[in-house]
Amino acid sequence: MFGLRAGFAGGIRLPVTERSDGDGLIRQLAFAPLLRLPLRQHAGAASVAVVRAGDEVQRGQLLARAEDDSAVPLHAPATGRVVRITEQADAETGTVREIELAPLPGDTQEEVLKPALVAERCRPDELLLAIREAGIVGQGGEAGPTHLRLARARERGVRVLVINGIEGEPGFCRVPALLARHARDLLSGLRCLLRVLETDQAVLAVESPDGEAAGAMLDGAVDGPCPTLRILPPRYPQGAAELLLRRLAADSRDFSAAEAVVFSLGTVAEIGRLLGGGRVVTDQLLTLAGDGLREPGNYRVPLGTPVGFALARAGAEAELDRVLLGGLMRGRSLAGLERPITKASTGLVAVSARSAARLPQPTSCIRCGECVAACPVQLHPAELGLLARRGEVEAMVDEWHLERCFECGCCSYVCPSHIPLVQMFRAAKLQHRRARQLATAEAAA
Ligand code: SF4
Ligand code: SF4
Repeated sequence: MFGLRAGFAGGIRLPVTERSDGDGLIRQLAFAPLLRLPLRQHAGAASVAVVRAGDEVQRGQLLARAEDDSAVPLHAPATGRVVRITEQADAETGTVREIELAPLPGDTQEEVLKPALVAERCRPDELLLAIREAGIVGQGGEAGPTHLRLARARERGVRVLVINGIEGEPGFCRVPALLARHARDLLSGLRCLLRVLETDQAVLAVESPDGEAAGAMLDGAVDGPCPTLRILPPRYPQGAAELLLRRLAADSRDFSAAEAVVFSLGTVAEIGRLLGGGRVVTDQLLTLAGDGLREPGNYRVPLGTPVGFALARAGAEAELDRVLLGGLMRGRSLAGLERPITKASTGLVAVSARSAARLPQPTSCIRCGECVAACPVQLHPAELGLLARRGEVEAMVDEWHLERCFECGCCSYVCPSHIPLVQMFRAAKLQHRRARQLATAEAAA
């Protein structure tokens, strides 16, 4: 997927942003009056509803089953009543079904629990099934089914597990919270993954601000496998899984990128937390950040919570300029705040009207080459930008490898002319995907 160099060149050193909550506090968000649950919250086929409008369900009960291996089941985030099942627009597939659930006010919200699992007492196939049945997906934002990634890694005989403890976005603070508050879950998830992969080799990679907390967390690994700790100087976007693997493998004499697999710290903690407690995914750990919030920080948010409700609970100002789903570098501006939190959500940034007023206007490209130097996958953003402005999407894809762009935002960040390069690339990709879908549909007709 990425460029061909070992390690990686490019990337940027971001100014140290004050984290929204350095003490690792995780607050529990209350239930919204109505939760909206799309049946495709993961990369893969949509799940299939097993409930109907009017059904009463208990928190943790199955709402939608996985029909094939690329899907994961969806469970009720709250005890409540299914209000209706609707069809909603979906950028990937056109439409997707969505369950609307009204939590029962005053209910104890006791969860349906399965038997708790201990990794050492389970076979690898039992653990894989349990991970799937719990509805676990990658916590890095890509939301790929974890059982699938793990099964493929097992099949190809991966012998090193890399735990990615690098914050995906500046200003997010999930990593210190996980290290401080979920140490036992992390170690339990680690044992589970190593058991499935049938290896005892693991590396935990963090950036220097989290080095001490990671060391303290590993001090607790007295009677089990203990990963080697790698503390890297901060450099965005080295937390992207493939870049991290290449970086670690280039520095290591012990393994190559092909012999390792990366799981995010959040995914490892989820596996430990859920399987160890016989629980399923009902909520999502998010950082709510931005200068438009009075109480930014980490929140455990029930799935299906509308973005506007979550922001209001974090003290959102009445006048926001925009809300980004995701972070400052890779986030997407939301058109409305009704959109629900899903298993793919990693955080929200609420930008106040005050700071937006200071945003500079784009000017012409001065061919300085800053964007080229910053691109971690060796693309030529300046050239891609020119083609985007001319609408030459085919040339962007065929001659300038647009598909390699993973929208890290480094080029936009460094551009002295403030050209919104990454937004232009996103739009071009969407245009290209739609043209391809149309061509496929016409060929099939
Ligand atoms: S957004 Fe794309 S083109 Fe720009 S730096 Fe990142 S990968 Fe390169
Ligand atoms: S950084 Fe901006 S101004 Fe410089 S070459 Fe790239 S697009 Fe042009």
